[in-house]
Amino acid sequence: MENILEIKNLRKNFNNFALKDISFTLPKGYIMGFIGPNGSGKSTTIKLIMNLLKKDGGQINVFGKDHLKYEKEIKNHIGFVYDENHFYEELTLGEMKSVIAAFYGSWEDKTFEKYIKLFQLPINKKIKELSKGMKMKFSLAIALSHNAKLLIMDEPTSGLDPIIRSELLDILYEVIQDEDKSVFFSTHITSDLDKVADYITFIHDGEIILSSAKDDILDNYCIVKGGTELLNTHTQKAFIGMRKNNFGFEGLARDREKVQTLFKGHVIIEKPSLEDIMLFTVRGNQYA
Ligand code: ADP
Ligand code: MG
Repeated sequence: MENILEIKNLRKNFNNFALKDISFTLPKGYIMGFIGPNGSGKSTTIKLIMNLLKKDGGQINVFGKDHLKYEKEIKNHIGFVYDENHFYEELTLGEMKSVIAAFYGSWEDKTFEKYIKLFQLPINKKIKELSKGMKMKFSLAIALSHNAKLLIMDEPTSGLDPIIRSELLDILYEVIQDEDKSVFFSTHITSDLDKVADYITFIHDGEIILSSAKDDILDNYCIVKGGTELLNTHTQKAFIGMRKNNFGFEGLARDREKVQTLFKGHVIIEKPSLEDIMLFTVRGNQYA
């Protein structure tokens, strides 16, 4: 399988935060959700990919090529959507489009017009008159109109109401139907991933907790419920995070088969949601 994005041992040190040698890959033609709580390092990673920040170590390849050596060529084929808007508020959508289109050799007005219609964007209105959801759609229309092979988006759904959010996710899903295109987007909302993500990379405190196909994650991780008398130093090791109360425990484990062997029929094993996985991992045994 061809990889569209490969990150190996990427490192960045700030005073109070570090990206700690993170690695993951996105195969061509898929959507990867990059999820983690606020402050976990999502925007930093995306800025490093886009070379808006200088990395302190590691390797980033996009389309199989070094992201610095081939920066210009690579960026021509990336549609990038920021978490903040970087448009001139006083320009109309049409005027802003002309400014941006001039940067791209592969700009296609026809495609842009298609998305303007699809998203029902008012081409003659000023950017400052748009709602947040409309601005996001405009960003996306721009990102999709220069034949980008990879869409990179930082929190595209943040601050949008549920209906617009769901619309936006549907659009991403449609983009991916063209097998030549791939999407990498960050979010702190797990329900964004339930619907559209093929792959999930979960970052917490600058470290990658997991990066796999969503279906594999949901098949292997499990929620285990049972009586606290079943817990000892040995059995407790099976859990990533756990909650206890007077009636028993509830824990997240990574390996369903191992749990079955360990506890035989004495526990209840359930399929976790992505929300469960994120919360138990972030909180660990804080509530034990
Ligand atoms: P996320 O996008 O997951 O919310 P960020 O990547 O924006 O997280 O930030 C991760 C951490 O790095 C935060 O603690 C943030 O304060 C810190 N950070 C981000 N950018 C800088 C910077 N330019 N200088 C110092 N610290 C930074
Ligand atoms: Mg961020």
